Amino acid sequence: MQSPPDPLLLAEAALLSERRRLTRDEVLAVADVGIEHLPALLDLAHRVRLAWCGEKVELESLVNVKSGACPEDCTFCGQSARHRTGVETYAMLDVEEIVAAARATEAQGVAQFCFVAAERLPSDRMFERLLECIGAVRRETDLDLGCSLGLVSEDQARALHEAGVRCFNHNLETSREFFPRLCTTHSWDDRVATAKIVKSAGLELCCGGIFGVGETLAQRIDLAFELAELEPVEVPLNFLTPRPGTPLEDQPLLGVEEALQTIAHFRLVLPDVWLRIAGGRELVLGDRQADGMLAGANGLIVGNYLTTLGRPAAEDIEMLEALQMPVAGPG
Ligand code: SF4
Repeated sequence: MQSPPDPLLLAEAALLSERRRLTRDEVLAVADVGIEHLPALLDLAHRVRLAWCGEKVELESLVNVKSGACPEDCTFCGQSARHRTGVETYAMLDVEEIVAAARATEAQGVAQFCFVAAERLPSDRMFERLLECIGAVRRETDLDLGCSLGLVSEDQARALHEAGVRCFNHNLETSREFFPRLCTTHSWDDRVATAKIVKSAGLELCCGGIFGVGETLAQRIDLAFELAELEPVEVPLNFLTPRPGTPLEDQPLLGVEEALQTIAHFRLVLPDVWLRIAGGRELVLGDRQADGMLAGANGLIVGNYLTTLGRPAAEDIEMLEALQMPVAGPG
């Protein structure tokens, strides 16, 4: 077998022998080695994941507590009121529906459950109802809880922490440089500010991005380093599913090799996070879902996503058994 190119050997020595993080230049050199060295890159990313995080894999399921009619204009999103996508729109699910979804999640062997609302920021009324739902789910299940509610205030973040929510998701989505091409109704700095608010309230930060939206490889790597500065615990990686009615409806799908390369690059920059493959993985990775888990990832969003259907959670659990990757419990 051909020996890996120098940048990969250097990255291996840094991450596995010296146990240090890579510099941006070192990662750019890795990115430069070319897709023909993809197997060596994926192998390294997987070994880095095992060395820094261990064998376990985290599974998370989402419930879309409020769908559609979001006032923001994110070009990739089917839930923006500014795009005609025909997505189902509802104000807020009932507590019974949310508890039923939580119970079903727990019964499938999934430990994490995230309340997601399509909003710029939650209204007081919606937030009150959400706290009720969180209380009900905590009484009825042992699930580990997360929320993704937009640009929350400090008081709201503290209230979520006190209500027993462990983790808050707020993605940067893309690099600072590319962000104005994706959204004009709020700024990248607004997102960073929210990420800092939730951390200072005691919540763990889940913060990632979306790929295949027109960004360059260097901008992907910029995002990985920008995320690293925020020290997230979890990093979800979403891949664009071009949705009819959005400005990105004609965007070509990211190729599978580029998606795997992205997962691996993120692992090299963020060696110790839960790196979770999320929305769009079915479409982009196709029958190479297992390769995604062997490219440095150690987390999956299972079941359905916010506006697109996923494959059944049982198929993912079976796949992880075949890969001998044990599923982590709550906490
Ligand atoms: S990504 Fe979030 S903030 Fe942007 S339009 Fe969609 S739901 Fe709204």
